[in-house]
Amino acid sequence: MIGRMDLRIGIGTDVHRLAAGRPMRIAGLDWPDDVGPEGHSDGDVVLHAICDALLSAAALGDLGSNFGTSDPQWDGAPSDDLLAETLRRLEKAGWRVGNVAVQLVGNRPRIGERRAEAEATIGARHGIDVSFTATTTDGLGLTGRGEGIAAIATALVVRGAAST
Ligand code: MG
Repeated sequence: MIGRMDLRIGIGTDVHRLAAGRPMRIAGLDWPDDVGPEGHSDGDVVLHAICDALLSAAALGDLGSNFGTSDPQWDGAPSDDLLAETLRRLEKAGWRVGNVAVQLVGNRPRIGERRAEAEATIGARHGIDVSFTATTTDGLGLTGRGEGIAAIATALVVRGAAST
């Protein structure tokens, strides 16, 4: 029989519609563009998918159940605040982060030259090891048609307090 696991994986997904005149804030960075994600927050699908994957790994629910739009405390909260609070909840539950992998799915922004910057920025702000990649969908679907932007994340969490 397999006992209690000290390593757990999780998965997270997020999608937002793109709309004219909204700031394009993705992976914790601002990207010059004339469209950006709609949403009750900044719509940073990368940070939202990371939160979702971390909560999933720790079996603490999902982004919606933790930060629902009906809760005024989190209505419109910056995604960096949601990630910081997600990490607090994991720590409180006895988990620290092994690593996170997150993939942006969409035509824009073109992350190429800023991929490392995004990883370093999230890592510096939140103290987690993130690998960030991107892909397109050959012009197909909501991301291919430019109607929206998506991200998928996986996370590994480790039982026990973080070493300092
Ligand atoms: Mg979202």
